[in-house]
Amino acid sequence: MEGYTLLCPQMAPIHFSLFDATFAWRGHNVVVLSEVDHNAIEDGLRYVNNDACYPAIVVCGQLIQALKSGKYDLQRTGVLISQTCGGCRSTNYRALLDLALRKAGFGSVRVLPFNVNVVKSGGSVLAGRFDVDLAFVRKMLVTVLYGDLLLLLSNRCRPYEVELGVTDKLVAYWLGELREVILSNRRHSISKMMVRIVSDFESLKLYDDLQKPKVGIVGEILVKYHPDANRNLVATIENEGGEAVVPGILDFMLYCLSSDQHKKPYADVSFISGLKSKFAVWIIEKYRDNIRYALRKSGRFEPPKHFNHLVEKAQKVISTCNQTGEGWLLTGEMVELIEDGCPNIVCVQPFGCLPNHITGKGVLKELRTRYPIANITTIDYDAGTTEVNQLNRIKLMMSVAQKNLLAK
Ligand code: SF4
Repeated sequence: MEGYTLLCPQMAPIHFSLFDATFAWRGHNVVVLSEVDHNAIEDGLRYVNNDACYPAIVVCGQLIQALKSGKYDLQRTGVLISQTCGGCRSTNYRALLDLALRKAGFGSVRVLPFNVNVVKSGGSVLAGRFDVDLAFVRKMLVTVLYGDLLLLLSNRCRPYEVELGVTDKLVAYWLGELREVILSNRRHSISKMMVRIVSDFESLKLYDDLQKPKVGIVGEILVKYHPDANRNLVATIENEGGEAVVPGILDFMLYCLSSDQHKKPYADVSFISGLKSKFAVWIIEKYRDNIRYALRKSGRFEPPKHFNHLVEKAQKVISTCNQTGEGWLLTGEMVELIEDGCPNIVCVQPFGCLPNHITGKGVLKELRTRYPIANITTIDYDAGTTEVNQLNRIKLMMSVAQKNLLAK
């Protein structure tokens, strides 16, 4: 894709602000679009059939708005779009986007799907479209790990700051440093870098005695991480006196990669596919050990658990054959949060998202029976939903969370 500009829709600001550097290291000019404003949503609604779910409207709208801006040479511009290989929009994005682009008059713009199975295939699923090899896949994985680490550290520190704004400044500083490391060919020790990052966040002055209710955020991947799509849910929780706990993106990747392994007892999955899927999880967890190592002595931060721990938690309630949308991952994350002392949860989903209504809303009765302390609220996001309704539900959940914390 030499000479091309590839536009990439935003999803998770911390992670995605490193992704373009990862692509640039391989010589690709990727522009991560920054924000989704009202006009982008309007474009999405205009060119995507409104029976498609909200994330499709957000993503397509953002890309069309960028193409309309006149900033890019349309003959040498492509759009990068993620695919997950499930039964949902994330798989059918390509077709939706192709149609939307044609309707908007950008039919000549190339659409390049970026499939998470690139990890399992060692890069071959993208061969022919990108110059992708194992080194690139490794770099991408490390980028996700850095993003997950910064997400974990910043969410834990921000609500307790003595000096307002220092956490976000530190995140910005480290994003700058990490970009340089990613762009250069400098060999570096991931674990040493992570130890330095953790030590910087450990030294931030916080009100350590202050106790705030922890609130987990789970749900559909785009509305879970994208602040413009979820109306800045993390900030809302913090403004209401809570601490947001957002599980990392790596678990979603592992969820996608491990699908064959979980389907195997019930479906016609070859032994080799099952094995590949197990191997992918094993090797990625080896990389995540770097985060656990950096956090091993911390009294402030909790290291992430092994993916198999999440699988076990989900299997208590639901079959891991539920693999459409966020599938069993959504249930697993809720069980893990509750058992780890975070019973307050906001479960976010696009309005009308069928799979997540089953593995999110559908399991709530069972979760409340098993864990009476669970304080879960579900929030639907859509282009037309009013903020007031969403805010009221969050405030109600927060007041119960504060009461439970006081009682404890
Ligand atoms: S999981 Fe829900 S929101 Fe996501 S693509 Fe599927 S139906 Fe749409």
